[in-house]
Amino acid sequence: MSYRTCSWTNKTSTQGCRRAATEDSDFCILHKPMPKSIPEFRQALEVQISEIAERDRPHSYFDFSGYVFPSGVAVRRPELGDGWLWFPMTMGTLDCSETVFAGDVVLRGLHVSNSAVFTKAEFCGLALFDDAVFGPREGPLSAVFADAVFHKAAVFRHVKFLSTANFSDAKFGVGSHGSWDEDPLRVSFERAEIDGELQLSGCKFHTGLEMRNTRIRERLFLEGAHFMSFTDVGLCDAQCLSLGFHRPTTRWIGLWSKRARCSVVVEDHKTSEEFWRMCRQTFEKEGKSDEADAAFYFERIAGRRAVLLKRTLSEKLISILGIPLDLVLRYTTAYGGSIGRLLVSWAVVIGSFASIFALVPTLLVRPSLPVWSVQNWLTSLYFSMTTFTTLGLGDIQPARMLGRLAISVEAAAGGVLMALLVLVLGRKHMR
Ligand SMILES: [Zn+2]
Repeated sequence: MSYRTCSWTNKTSTQGCRRAATEDSDFCILHKPMPKSIPEFRQALEVQISEIAERDRPHSYFDFSGYVFPSGVAVRRPELGDGWLWFPMTMGTLDCSETVFAGDVVLRGLHVSNSAVFTKAEFCGLALFDDAVFGPREGPLSAVFADAVFHKAAVFRHVKFLSTANFSDAKFGVGSHGSWDEDPLRVSFERAEIDGELQLSGCKFHTGLEMRNTRIRERLFLEGAHFMSFTDVGLCDAQCLSLGFHRPTTRWIGLWSKRARCSVVVEDHKTSEEFWRMCRQTFEKEGKSDEADAAFYFERIAGRRAVLLKRTLSEKLISILGIPLDLVLRYTTAYGGSIGRLLVSWAVVIGSFASIFALVPTLLVRPSLPVWSVQNWLTSLYFSMTTFTTLGLGDIQPARMLGRLAISVEAAAGGVLMALLVLVLGRKHMR
């Protein structure tokens, strides 16, 4: 029988595996896809671990990249029984890139003194990292879970990342669409401490995310993140924040298209208001008032969506009555954030009333002019402006009841829109 080596290669470093392939596949027992013999795998793994522990002490480099773990993995604990594969409690570097964990991963209290790499790893069972410590204080990265896929719960409760934790483009709770209460498969960073950055850009959370009391000493990156379920970020404290969104604008496309302006999507209406509030408060702390305005805009929209979820009838009524005011504030000023949008709405109101006065000359008492003459349109524009500003010079007067009504409506709209100018200027320049 000819001797064949394992044909697995690490896609990122093109490093191959030099172990012997098993009789029935092109891979060694460690890299062979499922199904495979657990005792055989356990034996090979234990040989591997003791070799590394002997050779590299104390800066042990555990290279498990591409391994396919056929059953649960844990750090050694007597209560877990015999069906498990064991990891050492302390490691120098842990490389699990492209590794597949077919069972649960229970690495509670694991200590990785250098860095842990789980790039493109796949967790088919639970991934529990409670109380683990990752990373060097000096190095740039303490843990990389970029492009990792978590099929079930991922728990990073009380975990300490001594420098940056990178989860970009990871997918959490794939296939789960439960609600918060029913869904035990949530992702939790509760009370985790990240001394560097937390990279969650491009992450997809199919399941609930819990970031209660999470401390991030540097920046929290959320560009392009997609939260499809419950998102609890109460008391999450980041030093600064990147969302990758654009400010609310007066561009008309922006009035309808939500996604065009914001790369972050929060689908759960019950919790999105709190999510945006956290964003706004972080931006305010950073002194980024434009970003805070934009976050406030999304906070208000989320709040309006949550109206129908209010419990009692009176709460519902109050919220529904607030909708018109809310709509006015949103479309005319982007909730006090956009002076451009306010000026556009001034122009729209003045222009449309001027057109009404020009096209229906019988509304006003004034010398009759041809409808399409410049004189007629200029006079109408002038009258519309004096009405809008509630100047009321009285040189032109309403002719009919309908004319009086039109003027009253324009004057009321003008009063409100002019008052809003004070509000927007105040918000923008006096904080
Ligand atoms: Zn191999």
